[in-house]
Amino acid sequence: MGEFELIARHFTRPAPPGGAVLLGVGDDAALLRPTPGHQLAISTDMLVEGRHFFAGAEPEALGHKALAVNLSDLAAMGARPLGFTLALALPAADEAWLAAFARGLFALADAHDCPLVGGDTTRGPLNLCITVFGQVLPGQALRRDAARAGDELWLSGRTGEARLALALRRGEAWATGAPINEADVAAAADRMDRPTPRLALGQALAATPGVHAALDVSDGLLGDLGHLLKASGEGAEIHVDTLPLAPALQGLALDHQRDCLLAGGDDYELLFTADAAAHGAVLAAGRAAGVAVTRIGRIAAQPGLLVRDAQGRAFTQRARGFDHFGD
Ligand code: ADP
Ligand code: MG
Repeated sequence: MGEFELIARHFTRPAPPGGAVLLGVGDDAALLRPTPGHQLAISTDMLVEGRHFFAGAEPEALGHKALAVNLSDLAAMGARPLGFTLALALPAADEAWLAAFARGLFALADAHDCPLVGGDTTRGPLNLCITVFGQVLPGQALRRDAARAGDELWLSGRTGEARLALALRRGEAWATGAPINEADVAAAADRMDRPTPRLALGQALAATPGVHAALDVSDGLLGDLGHLLKASGEGAEIHVDTLPLAPALQGLALDHQRDCLLAGGDDYELLFTADAAAHGAVLAAGRAAGVAVTRIGRIAAQPGLLVRDAQGRAFTQRARGFDHFGD
């Protein structure tokens, strides 16, 4: 199978009629038509074998995850997806692998009306790079620099399960020795392998007056919150006891529980801020999107990030998150 046959067989599908795609895979460039009056939102994320996923990872889940992490970025801007491109380096043209990868990829793409419109295919160490294109109304994008002192700080879903699943897969003793039942282990593994981009929530929040800033939690809650605070020039206080605790985390020692919750990574939940007056509207947006939203703290004028425990005492979290060029 040559390069062009591979593209034709696995990555070429007719553009859905009536959507934003005027011309998809097959020409020198795709043609997209956003709804008049909207802004384009564009984001790229790369998954590298051995870095973001284990060698030999299940290809269907990989197809899902490669797109999911990109859609999560659009969700965090409050944007609606229009389409995506896929740049793919493959060590070999393995039919079964490609078919499974495409299955996972297109299932998620179809679920969000986000067609594949182009890409590039080359031989090389396994590397998946997706660029997503979305649209958002002027003034509605949820930017990192828009948090204001006094805002309530919110989190969608819950954090920590992906980190626990990673530890279990690596055989880290603090996780393998903890009492966790099989169903909870499976749920945690699913969070790592098949994250859910919070697109409906992001769009509902973007349309909610009083919602200010947002980002998606991919590298650990505290680390990512730090990015939002830096961009906004504000500080924050988090109450760790208000963070929803997945059943799988309940049997962990407290330190490890907090590491997972606050610095786990790979969560793909939305962290966002809103006027206290918008509290009810935020809860309604969560209900409309079918995602739990929890108030976990507040934005403060004094700089820094204060984490409080159940007794209200400040404590220092030992790890904050993941940095590819950190130590
Ligand atoms: P060019 O040489 O003009 O860059 P290519 O030969 O790389 O074009 O690709 C041919 C067509 O196939 C283009 O429309 C490109 O967008 C598309 N394409 C290539 N690889 C992929 C892929 N992995 N997924 C989707 N479309 C792809
Ligand atoms: Mg090309």
